[in-house]
Amino acid sequence: MSQIIYLNGEYINRDDGKISIMDRGFLFGDGVYELVPIYKSKPFLINKHLQRLRSSLELVGMKTDFAIIEDLENIMLQLIAKNKYVDHFFYVHITRGYQSSRNHVYPDGIKPTVLVMGEEYKVFSKEKLKNGFKGCVREDFRWMKSNIKSISLLGNVLLKNYAAQNGFYETLLIRNKKLTEGSASNIFVVNNGKVMTPNLGVEILPGITRDLLIELFRKNNIDVEETDVSEDDLLNSEEVWCTSSTNYCVPITEIDSKKIGDGTVGEYSYKSYDLINKFISEL
Ligand code: PMP
Repeated sequence: MSQIIYLNGEYINRDDGKISIMDRGFLFGDGVYELVPIYKSKPFLINKHLQRLRSSLELVGMKTDFAIIEDLENIMLQLIAKNKYVDHFFYVHITRGYQSSRNHVYPDGIKPTVLVMGEEYKVFSKEKLKNGFKGCVREDFRWMKSNIKSISLLGNVLLKNYAAQNGFYETLLIRNKKLTEGSASNIFVVNNGKVMTPNLGVEILPGITRDLLIELFRKNNIDVEETDVSEDDLLNSEEVWCTSSTNYCVPITEIDSKKIGDGTVGEYSYKSYDLINKFISEL
């Protein structure tokens, strides 16, 4: 079905969206993005997503393009109305823009390319969680700026496809014997009865869902430690689950054929799902 997207100041049909092959996003993967859920026809936690986008732009030296952010909420509201989105997702993609020659060095005053379009993802029902999901562990070979939501996702793509091709839901990443994150998610574990998640820093994306879950746990008097999680801690945890905007809680009950806990979905995994689900239903 055709849908209306926003591209560089215009509302057009998705099939009519074209950009130049000289766009730095195409040639260098030079740009940043956001994925914003829409619930009940409203962008979800929009200020947090815009704040992270601002931070990504700043970290790649695109601070002069902050003006775009001022318009984004309005653009999203227009697209929600035009496409009659109720529960959906927005993909926001901002590249450094068009340059007439292929050159690593970008000129001053280059105009960014801005795309906002709807995407549909199937959020798992609670029923779907009950058998748990399989994960695998790989070395985190990505760059040391994973806190930027960069459109250069080749590392994540290769790592996620390793999982997909080998019958796993997610690849959990290890650097220097410590858990960083998933190829497309943040990770929580329960170890010795304590809920833990890796610290923020250059090695992980500051997930909006991670942040929301920590807040909801703390409001419900459940302690969460943001701390180093070793590979051993991970593999010997009672529970492991992934969080992301597209699937806010996915329990991992087996990693590389080793059962996590007793191999069933644990109480904190369900609690995470329920807390976020309740938060959304009360919007
Ligand atoms: N880490 C990575 C590498 C991701 O790609 C994502 C989701 N896109 C996340 C974490 C989770 O972030 P969020 O909760 O904001 O979707």
